[in-house]
Amino acid sequence: MPFDSAQGEWKGGKSAFSFAPRPAMQCSMTTDTLDIAALIRTIPDFPKPGIQFRDITTLLLDPAGFAASVERLAEAAPTGVDLIAGIEARGFIFSSAIAHQLARGLLLIRKTGKLPGVTVGVDYALEYGTDRVEMHADACVPGQKVLLVDDLIATGGTALAAVRLLREAGAEVVGAAFVIDLPDLGGADLLRAEGVAVTTLVSFGGH
Ligand code: AMP
Repeated sequence: MPFDSAQGEWKGGKSAFSFAPRPAMQCSMTTDTLDIAALIRTIPDFPKPGIQFRDITTLLLDPAGFAASVERLAEAAPTGVDLIAGIEARGFIFSSAIAHQLARGLLLIRKTGKLPGVTVGVDYALEYGTDRVEMHADACVPGQKVLLVDDLIATGGTALAAVRLLREAGAEVVGAAFVIDLPDLGGADLLRAEGVAVTTLVSFGGH
């Protein structure tokens, strides 16, 4: 009995099984023409009302989608990058794959109190309160060219703090790469205004 993937059910006969089709979860076969945005699930009102949470777990489940995201961000990396810096936590997923693809080392930028060695940190403002990003004080050598990576840029607060942190440690931030841009929140433009070349793969309107 053939399966009708558009309808999510078996055709031409009675079946006890029927379920809603989930195109975002289907395995896409080619990486060059692949629609990454279609593989990102949007969950409304998470973690609080009014936020459209852009969920990359569906993209990660798709082998071609995950591979295409990493390849496209790696291909766009400025020449001469020495080190990839990933922002905790979802940024670690893409930054480690890009570092592997480019055969570069990986520098971890973490939330406060997570790193075991001597750290340097930068505080930054949130809508309510403050947050802090840290890295090991000896994680990079002054003058090293660093590509910053996270899954998503919204207001840019986290990425700008990471840029400040890397610069204070003597690194040259030659680029920043994100799978998702929320351009209405202006973060990518703030980074560009700071002199950082920004690459993003998909954009979503709103918050
Ligand atoms: P921001 O500092 O405002 O640019 O926020 C960026 C960080 O918050 C990233 O590490 C994202 O993982 C997370 N984030 C912010 N907004 C969203 C959203 N709408 N969906 C998923 N993650 C988000």
